[in-house]
Amino acid sequence: MAITEQEMSHEQMKLHESKGFVCKVCGAPVLVVWGGSYNIEGYLLKCCKSIEHTGVARYFKLGVMDTPDGLNIGNMSRIRRRNLEKRIGEEKATALAKYSGAGYLTKEEATEIITTVWPDASKIEVLKASIVCAQYGLNPLMKHLYLIPFDKKKKNEKTGQWETVSTTYAMVLGIKASRIIARRRGEYAYLDDTPRIMTTEEQMKIFGEVDVADICAITRLQDRKGNTAIGTGRWPNSQTVQGADKGNNKLNMAMIRSERQALERLFPDSFPTEVKDVVDERFQEIGGGKQVDTNTGEIIETARPSLDPKNPPDIVEGELVEPAKTPETAPAATTATTPTPEAVKDESVVTPEQLKDIAALLKEANVTEAELGKFCNKEQKWAIKKFADLKAWQYEEVKSYLNKAAGK
Ligand SMILES: [Zn+2]
Repeated sequence: MAITEQEMSHEQMKLHESKGFVCKVCGAPVLVVWGGSYNIEGYLLKCCKSIEHTGVARYFKLGVMDTPDGLNIGNMSRIRRRNLEKRIGEEKATALAKYSGAGYLTKEEATEIITTVWPDASKIEVLKASIVCAQYGLNPLMKHLYLIPFDKKKKNEKTGQWETVSTTYAMVLGIKASRIIARRRGEYAYLDDTPRIMTTEEQMKIFGEVDVADICAITRLQDRKGNTAIGTGRWPNSQTVQGADKGNNKLNMAMIRSERQALERLFPDSFPTEVKDVVDERFQEIGGGKQVDTNTGEIIETARPSLDPKNPPDIVEGELVEPAKTPETAPAATTATTPTPEAVKDESVVTPEQLKDIAALLKEANVTEAELGKFCNKEQKWAIKKFADLKAWQYEEVKSYLNKAAGK
C-alpha cells in the first residue's frame, strides 16, 4: 500500500519525489498523488506502477568528483587541484598534482602520496596504508583514506601533567569511499529513509536493550537482486565530534557507522579488514599532522575523530592503551577539581560581590575571561552564557581553579 499522510507529511513526500526515490518493491519512481481516486482523503507517495507496492528506496549514485580523471568532464582536474591546495598546502599539492584524480594507484604511487601527506607515520603504517590503497582503488588525495594520529599519553608523576610518549596512526576510510567500494560490487539502495536514528523498538529488537550511553543509528540496504542488509552504529553521548562547527554531529557519526556496517554486510569481503572505522570526509581534512591550538599551543584532541571504544582498531597493537578513555578527557581531569556531591550543591546565583571576587582573582591569576570561559564550558561543560549565570557551587569551583592558577 502507498504511503499516506499519516505516515509522512506532504512536504516530506514532495522531497522524496524530487530527490529521485524509487519503489522498494519494483524500483520504479515514486510520485506524490492525490488519494481521491483510491478513496483516501489526502496525498499519497506511491509507486508509479502499483498502488500495492510499499516502501521507498534511494539508489547510491556516483558524483562527477568521485570518478577518476579518465572519466572526467570539463575542468574537473582544475577544481581538484584547487581543492588539493586547500587541503594539503600548495607545496605538497604541486608535488602530488599528478595523482589528484587518480582512481587507481600502484603501491609505490600510494606510498609517495602517504609519505608526503603524513611524513611522521612509521614505515609499517605507510606500507599497510599503501597496500590498502592499491588493493581497493583508494586515493588519499580524494579523501578516500586517512591516517589519523593518536597520541599515547602518560601522566608524569612528578608534574601531574599528561605527556605524549608516542604517536601512532590509525587507518580510517571516508564514508564516500566505502560507498564507492560497495558500488563497484553492484547497485544498492537505502531503504525506509535510512540512515536515521534507531527507534527504541528497533534497539530492543536488535540489541535486546535500549542503549542510553550512545546515540544509535540504523541503515537498511537492498541490492538489485533484492538481498537486504541492516547495519547499526553508535557514537558515545559523552564524546565530541570533529567538525561540529561545520555541521557535523553525533547522530551523523552514528549514521555513517551504521551505513558502513550495512555496506559490509550487503557486500561481504569487499572492504579492507584492517580498517575498522569510518569518518565523514565532509568534516575531515587530510592534514599533515597534529592540529595545534594557536592560542594556547595545546594540541586539540577533539579535533581528531575518536575511534569506537567498543571496537578499537587492532592495527595499533597495544599502542592505544585504554581506548575508551580518549585523551580529550584525560588531560582535563588534571585541572578539574572534585565536583561537589549532588546533594549539597548550592543552586543560588552568584552575588555581585562574588563576581567582583572573580574579577579580582582573574587579574591575580593572570587568566583571561576567555580562558575562564573555556574552563567553565569546555572542561566543566556547564554551558553558561555569562559569568553572572554561575551558581554558587560553580563559583566555588571557579574560585578554586583561579586560586590554583594564582599559585595559592
Ligand atoms: Zn513498485
